[in-house]
Amino acid sequence: MARGDVCKQVVESHPKFLRHDSGMQKGDTTNIITKPTNKATEKHKSCSTNGVYELLECPMCTKLMYPPIHQCPNGHTLCSNCKSRVQNCCPTCHSELGNIRCLALEKVAESLELPCRHQSLGCHDIFPYYSKLKHEQTCRFRPYNCPYAGSECTVTGDIPNLLAHLSNDHNVDMHDGCTFNHRYVKSNPYEVENATWMLTVFNCYGRQFCLHFEAYQLGTAPVYISFLRFMGEDTEAKNFSYTLEVGGYGRKLTWQGVPRSIRDSHQKIRDSQDGLVIPRKLALFFSGGNRKELKLRVIGHIWKEQ
Ligand SMILES: [Zn+2]
Ligand SMILES: [Zn+2]
Ligand SMILES: [Zn+2]
Ligand SMILES: [Zn+2]
Repeated sequence: MARGDVCKQVVESHPKFLRHDSGMQKGDTTNIITKPTNKATEKHKSCSTNGVYELLECPMCTKLMYPPIHQCPNGHTLCSNCKSRVQNCCPTCHSELGNIRCLALEKVAESLELPCRHQSLGCHDIFPYYSKLKHEQTCRFRPYNCPYAGSECTVTGDIPNLLAHLSNDHNVDMHDGCTFNHRYVKSNPYEVENATWMLTVFNCYGRQFCLHFEAYQLGTAPVYISFLRFMGEDTEAKNFSYTLEVGGYGRKLTWQGVPRSIRDSHQKIRDSQDGLVIPRKLALFFSGGNRKELKLRVIGHIWKEQ
């Protein structure tokens, strides 16, 4: 279709009804709660605001729209994300889109309050429309990413689900107890240099901690790093401390730290060197033998700060 050419027949039916529910995010389907919460009118309110809610859904991607909300000359609305992808052609009626803001709808959105999309996971907070997204990015009920490092694992979930996933899908060892004595053995020189992504989970104080061990390049120096991550929020992680110890032949390296929440990525923690860093030469010295194999014993202890 030539640029500026306008379809004679305006499509009146809103395409979103065809795929209503299809792309909606879980939790976004709940009723909108309007500011006045008079019990007698609540039922009526939720019916009428559901209509507004549908208006705020982008007809293309079905996500909720945030300013700037756009519209075509025939009044079809579109989110700014989709607008940048439709090459100035209204996806509903194929008119030239132009640059028209839908200020009325933006204002209506401002007056709405919505529950957090993680309501089903336990968050019962309600937010003004425009604060909802921001809250959801840091909501403590949002699912955690799989803590297994080194794979492109995209699994998310709450802690019990992730524990089952780590054990079933990544074959991660689970141990009970707040002290541990863990051996890392790699007899093949290739594996010594690529001893990556080793993960063990410890059950301690009824909570779970991930012990990571891996080889990486710190600048030009090959090193191993070991650190502990807490399967929960950062605020809770700070209630715990841990030590790691590795040594042999009369030498010893120790580290005392605070476990980091699994909200912090594995890589972020590694790159900040917030753990026991063992130069590879020293690790091989601790391993004894011909210095071609890795045989490390990491001793650790987790405790709760009073
Ligand atoms: Zn959209
Ligand atoms: Zn249109
Ligand atoms: Zn929330
Ligand atoms: Zn995973």
